[in-house]
Amino acid sequence: MNHKITFIGTGYVGLVSGTCLAESGHSVVCADISTQKIEQLRHGQVPIFEPGLEALVKKNSDFERLTFTDNVANAIQISKVIFIAVGTPMGSDGNADLTYVKQVAESIGKNLNGYKVIVNKSTVPVGTGQLVQSIIAQHAPEHTQFDVVSNPEFLREGSAITDFMMPDRIIVGCQSEQARTIMTNIYEPFTAKQVPLIFTNIATAETIKYASNSFLATKISFINEIYRLCDQTGADITTVARTMGLDHRISPYFLKPGPGFGGSCFPKDVNALVRIGEAHQLDMQLIKAVLASNETQKEYVVTKIRSILENQIKGKTITLLGLTFKANTDDVRDSSALHVIKKLIEHGAFIKAHDPQGMENMRLIYPEIQYCLSPYDAVKDADICVVLTEWNEFKKLDIRLMAESMEQRKI
Ligand code: NAD
Repeated sequence: MNHKITFIGTGYVGLVSGTCLAESGHSVVCADISTQKIEQLRHGQVPIFEPGLEALVKKNSDFERLTFTDNVANAIQISKVIFIAVGTPMGSDGNADLTYVKQVAESIGKNLNGYKVIVNKSTVPVGTGQLVQSIIAQHAPEHTQFDVVSNPEFLREGSAITDFMMPDRIIVGCQSEQARTIMTNIYEPFTAKQVPLIFTNIATAETIKYASNSFLATKISFINEIYRLCDQTGADITTVARTMGLDHRISPYFLKPGPGFGGSCFPKDVNALVRIGEAHQLDMQLIKAVLASNETQKEYVVTKIRSILENQIKGKTITLLGLTFKANTDDVRDSSALHVIKKLIEHGAFIKAHDPQGMENMRLIYPEIQYCLSPYDAVKDADICVVLTEWNEFKKLDIRLMAESMEQRKI
């Protein structure tokens, strides 16, 4: 039996997850308070860049399995299953800011018109399931039944559709049999493809998400630290990383040095895990070290640029290729490029930049740098070119052509 599904929050996660569940045969409505976003989607325009998403949105909208609304109250009333997929940004104290989750819980309570399963897909600290439960109960009509479950999302921007459609595992934290049956039904198209569907209690599901992201961030910080060592000793980091990765216990994934991890998830989730530990009187020593090591790596990029330019950054033209936090996305939230740009501007550099998808978003934050239509335009007259994101486009550049138009041939 197919239940009508509502997503509240139509951002990276809500839009991708809602579209993919529609593609799996469910009837899905994606709701958002951003009228502009909903209007765009109704006209077939996808407000984010995610490979393959536009075609999938169009296909499922045409089949009327996927609809969009800014009437959140109605979207709650018409569905039996309500996914919460709103942002949980980092608060000023490092904790996850639950303002949007609490607002949604209140709307759900006020519009509860029968039994519903409330599925929390946003990344939230342990205990949030209970908080959502109590807020809904406070606002819901008396005797109206509902269940809250936790269903953390593990998709990666840039490969979000494949990640959602063929995940390594689906985690559902759940306490009631009725909700368990409904969640089993929703994910039946996935379990039919042998995707493991794992039921846990809610606190365990919430913890799995933070533990997973923090582990991946640890792996990145680890290889970045080894990179800094190699940079000083003359060892070849590429060979070190590749051969480490051949050991099955280590695996090659997340073992490439870069300008430090960023994005809308890792920094905030690692910080939140430290705060969750503190709330339970635990000093998360390793996790704190990961954050500190990441800051060191971001600064190391600036130090490296300074040393290549022999301590003369003022007045130099510096080209940055890649502004997003990773390839195949337009997302610049907490991207390492933000740190590099800030520092280079402070040091008096003139910055030219190119990114295949991220320039519009970066322009909102740094309108003062020069955005160029191609990498070749961007390196013209530059003293140094710094590649910050591993876009495929940058792997095939004609280095000789680039060098010819540069002031100094430093990449
Ligand atoms: P996002 O900022 O792209 O989207 C959130 C959306 O929620 C926005 O469109 C916003 O307008 C909407 N919203 C806010 N308050 C609302 C309300 N009261 N009613 C209706 N809509 C409302 O965020 P995102 O990147 O999709 O992340 C959502 C959650 O998923 C976060 O907790 C994040 O940590 C988690 N997550 C993100 C990713 C990722 O790669 N982006 C991956 C896994 C998990």
